[in-house]
Amino acid sequence: TCGICVEKCPFDAIEIINLPSELDEDPTHRYGENAFSLYGLPVPESGSVTGILGPNGIGKTTAVRALAGEMVPNLGNYDEEPTWEAVLDRFRGTELQNYVEQVRDGEVSIARKPQYVDQIPKQFDGSARDLLEATDERGALDSYIDRLDIGPVVDNDIETLSGGELQRVALAATLARDRDFYFLDEISPYLDIGQRVTAARLIRELAEEEDRAVLVVEHDLAILDLLADTLHVAYGEPGAYGVITDPKSVRNGINEYLKGYLSNENMRIRPEAITFEEHAPRETTKAEPLVEYPELAKSYGDGEFSLDVEAGTIYNGEVLGIVGPNGIGKSTLAQLFTGDLTPDVGELDFALDISYKPQYIEIDQPMRVDAFLSSITDQFGSSYWNTEIANPLQLNRIMERNLTDLSGGERQRVAIAACLSQNADLYLLDEPSAHLDVEQRVQATSAIRRYAENHDATVMVIDHDIYMMDLLADRLMVFDGEPSIEGHASKPQEMRDGMNDFLSDLDITFRRDERTQRPRINKPDSQLDREQKRAGEYYYAE
Ligand code: ADP
Ligand code: ADP
Repeated sequence: TCGICVEKCPFDAIEIINLPSELDEDPTHRYGENAFSLYGLPVPESGSVTGILGPNGIGKTTAVRALAGEMVPNLGNYDEEPTWEAVLDRFRGTELQNYVEQVRDGEVSIARKPQYVDQIPKQFDGSARDLLEATDERGALDSYIDRLDIGPVVDNDIETLSGGELQRVALAATLARDRDFYFLDEISPYLDIGQRVTAARLIRELAEEEDRAVLVVEHDLAILDLLADTLHVAYGEPGAYGVITDPKSVRNGINEYLKGYLSNENMRIRPEAITFEEHAPRETTKAEPLVEYPELAKSYGDGEFSLDVEAGTIYNGEVLGIVGPNGIGKSTLAQLFTGDLTPDVGELDFALDISYKPQYIEIDQPMRVDAFLSSITDQFGSSYWNTEIANPLQLNRIMERNLTDLSGGERQRVAIAACLSQNADLYLLDEPSAHLDVEQRVQATSAIRRYAENHDATVMVIDHDIYMMDLLADRLMVFDGEPSIEGHASKPQEMRDGMNDFLSDLDITFRRDERTQRPRINKPDSQLDREQKRAGEYYYAE
């Protein structure tokens, strides 16, 4: 495709034009001979939210250190002392000129939210309130605590907070600062969709109402779409070089990314396009049931939390998506199915082998990745296993590393591979998107899908990334209720009914992008939002 059409060129006229390769021009920064090089820089702008879309290891942190004035980029001359005057010369006449002048004059102050919020307890002792009060430079704290729903845990020790709670505390702590430039390295990990949308709104308000410059890296595309005004796509070869494109409109940037082809740059970044079904998949004739389970109930302690589950059937060979807010009982249901928990009401007597990937991954044996995976499957290393599992999950580069040295995203990919490599009747994956960058999500999604199709395997996936769910699931199980108090799980439903059930609870509707049919969150109370709610169609248009 030439990038103009989504589908293959109808005239068969154009071959792939350009595959990414390191650029001829001088980089913005090079760490040393044969070391990582960064090309381009994002453009922060007061009053607006600038997004970066691209893989990890592509130079985002390097770029932000330059934009924060913590490091003078060397323009590729790594053996000379870099100066801001040289940087200014390079960017004179571009959209960055003003910004670089301010950095040179020491006029830019920055607040940043780190990517891995799990590390916060290691760096800070005390309650969430202690942490937050030290950062409240704008007197905005009470409002953030309220809107991010941190109140119930704010006086607890930081060490006791869950991932989702830490993420919201870290967001409040960053946004409450009084700075010129805010850098947020991922906002969505561990948050459910409602919380992601709230976080996006708070960030937009900070930019618009307080006239601040905000730069965000985000891998959940539906949220990035809602959050950013302009977008830089980042591509290249992680660890070797990274190119940050000129700014694009968010809509175009995401469309081009999904298409796999950047028009202005004339650059193909992926061999095939990612496409969404505009209409709900038609009800298919079902295969054999894998399990039929009765109505179930489970509560903890003396009933602080209780879950009830409608009776339902899971069919052989389907991918069943599981959606719902945090704290509503999704993991509890997973543990009922694995037999780790026993229901109070109802009986699960199936003799199923279940391969389970939990949300929080603990693989801490001092063992190499290859040794670990070959202990799980005797298919390890076969060309079939490499094609189906190792390649799409990008495991080859980390095979010789120790499990204990892996980053969050690397650990996630090993855990997904381990789960799919077992011989089982049912594969249950709890939040496979966590810590994966956008390209890894795409790859992991197709690996899981293909695995299900080729093996007639039955897969249940719990996740909050709606694009991933759309690409993965055949049917949906929807949880609702009151988080931490009571949860209700629907029986598995067709995609249309499931999406309507789920999104009406959240009060969010999606429209379709005209060019790519990609789902986009509607502005609340926009004409489309109101029409779709009236018609009861929250996701699939008529
Ligand atoms: P991202 O934030 O996109 O994950 P980074 O900017 O942190 O990427 O890093 C990009 C690449 O630069 C990585 O391969 C990293 O190892 C390398 N890198 C980062 N800092 C240095 C340094 N001081 N010296 C040499 N290489 C570095
Ligand atoms: P989800 O997976 O939807 O986020 P969970 O099933 O993990 O939800 O938890 C639902 C509720 O049950 C939460 O309020 C959680 O704190 C509580 N809970 C989970 N496990 C236990 C347990 N072992 N003892 C007491 N309460 C628990």
